[in-house]
Amino acid sequence: MAAQGQCPGCGAPIEFRMGASVSAVCPYCTTTVRRTDRGLENLGKVAALADSPAIVAVGDSGAIGDQRFHVLGKVQLQHDMGGVWEEWYLGFDNGQWGWLAYAQGLFMVTWKVQPSPSVPPMNQVSLEMPINFGPRGIFRIVEYKNATIASAQGELPFAPKAGDIRYYADLHGPQQGFATIDWGQGTEPVEVFIGYQLLESQLRITEQVERPHQSVHLEGLQCPGCGAPLKVHGGNRIERIACVYCGTISETASQQIIARQEAARTQPLIPIGASGTLAEQNYTVIGYMLKSTVFEEEVFTWSEYLLYGPGVGFRWLVDDEGTWRFVSPLNASDIDLSGFPSSIGYGGKVFRMRNQNEGFTDYVLGEFYWKVQVGESTQNMDFSNGSDVVSREAGSNEVHYSHAPAIPWSVIAQAFGLPNTAASSPTSSASCRGCVTAVAWVIVILVVLALLGIFVCVGESGDSSPGVRGSPAYGGGWSSGK
Ligand SMILES: [Zn+2]
Ligand SMILES: [Zn+2]
Repeated sequence: MAAQGQCPGCGAPIEFRMGASVSAVCPYCTTTVRRTDRGLENLGKVAALADSPAIVAVGDSGAIGDQRFHVLGKVQLQHDMGGVWEEWYLGFDNGQWGWLAYAQGLFMVTWKVQPSPSVPPMNQVSLEMPINFGPRGIFRIVEYKNATIASAQGELPFAPKAGDIRYYADLHGPQQGFATIDWGQGTEPVEVFIGYQLLESQLRITEQVERPHQSVHLEGLQCPGCGAPLKVHGGNRIERIACVYCGTISETASQQIIARQEAARTQPLIPIGASGTLAEQNYTVIGYMLKSTVFEEEVFTWSEYLLYGPGVGFRWLVDDEGTWRFVSPLNASDIDLSGFPSSIGYGGKVFRMRNQNEGFTDYVLGEFYWKVQVGESTQNMDFSNGSDVVSREAGSNEVHYSHAPAIPWSVIAQAFGLPNTAASSPTSSASCRGCVTAVAWVIVILVVLALLGIFVCVGESGDSSPGVRGSPAYGGGWSSGK
């Protein structure tokens, strides 16, 4: 098939760099052009690209170890609830092609497996279901959803059609393995892509082009609520910011206001912007969340601090009524689920179910890598072995595991240069005015849920300690197009 030709929409030259590329979006007139034996076919214009933080852009180059690649194209996908994410089509110098995505501080790179391993039909999968990929080991489903193709750019190994629904599942596997099962619309042959999760430091991106949309710079953003300067420590990884001065929540890429909260309802014990070294890694505190749950008609609150470490991604510090925990994400395939839900295994130890709750986000400040929303909730389960905890969070057909060992406040205080006095979140105090509002809201929400017949399950252990980590119930996942 031709490696080049003329755009049937505007006559501009169209060039295909990869033999595997099936289509290209004309950069001049946005017509999608399909490559056929008979020449170039006009598939119509694609919708405008949505604003999105651009950690990778079409035209960039990069490398994983000594495997060099070019970013040849991208597809934008959308969940029902508004989350847009991108997947980039990589052409490697050795002639292979793959998909790259970025979510929750990690890159995921995958290659198509041929012939496709056998997998269950899309309507028969569930969270944590094991899938045997033969020599690649047993993977576990951590997300299964559908997404709509919203837009595209550059070359792609399939012909994108805006509005097409794609059914997919993401899986975790051994040795930081990552895979996607793509059922397409459910009528075409299933495709399987297998690869790895990579730390940012394990994948090099060389920016070769100007970012096509409003890029988030470390300096220069202003709060659309109050005009205060917003310093963005997490750069292009950040989807939303809650202004520390006025509480306004805004979208970083579009700078649209999403919601307003009261200003300075609570002061984080570790200031946003504080930097320090924990576990031999430098982190900056970039976000703060006040969360709550209800147990036997009593409201329990806790605080979560989002940390960003260049090269390693995101971590959390959680203040659970004076017990602090340092929280790192886990690959779900590293968890032994044979005793689930009464216990799980991790790192050769057995963790017993300690409690189960529904955690609500009541107030946020700072930067977040997902489309954070006040009122969002997750189903949390904590499993403990002594003071060590493994946490499971589930919501919206996705599940996240994390490791949350206790960490003394004195270590945190020293790392961030804070006074080493006994510290607990001021928000745990019943005299906090904002908490009264939070309590009222949580009760209202629970009453509504109860009326709807949805029951909040609380563990039988009687331990009322709430969940240890809140993270994103929004998309952030990835599917692979075809
Ligand atoms: Zn054109
Ligand atoms: Zn503001």
